[in-house]
Amino acid sequence: MLKVQMITPAEVVANWSPHLEAAFEEAGVTAKLGTDFDPEEVDYVIYAPGGGSADLSGYVNTKAVLGLWAGVESIIKNETLTQPYARMVDEGLTEGMVEWVTGHVLRHHLGMDAHITGRAGWDHSPPPLARHRKVGILGLGVLGSASAQALARLNFAVAGWSRSPKALPEVACFHGDAGLAQVLEQSEILVLLLPSTPETENTLNAETLARMPEGAVILNPGRGALIDDDALLAALDRGQVGHATLDTFRVEPLPEDHPFWAHPHVTVTPHIASETRPETASTVVAENISRVEARQPLLHEVDKSRGY
Ligand code: NDP
Repeated sequence: MLKVQMITPAEVVANWSPHLEAAFEEAGVTAKLGTDFDPEEVDYVIYAPGGGSADLSGYVNTKAVLGLWAGVESIIKNETLTQPYARMVDEGLTEGMVEWVTGHVLRHHLGMDAHITGRAGWDHSPPPLARHRKVGILGLGVLGSASAQALARLNFAVAGWSRSPKALPEVACFHGDAGLAQVLEQSEILVLLLPSTPETENTLNAETLARMPEGAVILNPGRGALIDDDALLAALDRGQVGHATLDTFRVEPLPEDHPFWAHPHVTVTPHIASETRPETASTVVAENISRVEARQPLLHEVDKSRGY
């Protein structure tokens, strides 16, 4: 019987245990879930330690640490994490992100705010069709490519940017520094779905924001550190950026006195763009345990040197 230690807050243990047990049974994994096994006897760790990080140095026989989060920037700084680490790629989490991104893109594309507030009055000017609206997505990984393709299916003119070259149906794909400039220059609505790494910090800064079309809209469900906050506020104040809908911040919860809260052209959502869903994500955990037991490579293993 495998021993699977949950290093997570108590409510995660309570919410996830029934889903994990069902997924183990379905996958034919014979395992016992626990929270206080002797670390030396633990085969797998399920890891989502709330705030801060946990000491993993005693888990000397653990075959893999299975994260419940998609983002890894804080986890890979944990120097006691020497075991292979798999981040969470979950169909429920991806679906949630696609819904958040398409919802907020459509809000700005259709100019809904002007009608919800009544500001537009009887201004009978229809928005352009989606085929004439240029949307850029920085980051074409699991979440960025799913969002790009959902927007392309709605007919938006979508361009995306990644570190390595990519090919996606109906999406113009760019990479490298020159590629970033091309995507920025054409993005009326820009979605940030990059991971937070030393290379991606301040991807949007005074210089890159100035490359965007005047009045462009920015959506940031990626990470707060992707944007230089002061540069964004300055760009909003002079109208270079028309609106920013921000879900992630350098400090979370966003401090009460942060200027984003009161800014008329900023929408704050409290890191709710997407969540790992226990009902779908538990099958990913079970599949990964099965794979390692069958000596197959771990799915979604993080390259600590690359930072994502
Ligand atoms: P992936 O690792 O699948 O994708 C990351 C993408 O970013 C890849 O396309 C990668 O390029 C690209 N990238 C990384 N570094 C660079 C760089 N230096 N220059 C250009 N492109 C780069 O991540 P996911 O799609 O699963 O998730 C993206 C992020 O979304 C997470 O890291 C997390 O921060 C955030 N997130 C936010 C949530 C929320 O609720 N707000 C929920 C879940 C995730 P390449 O393809 O070439 O490797």
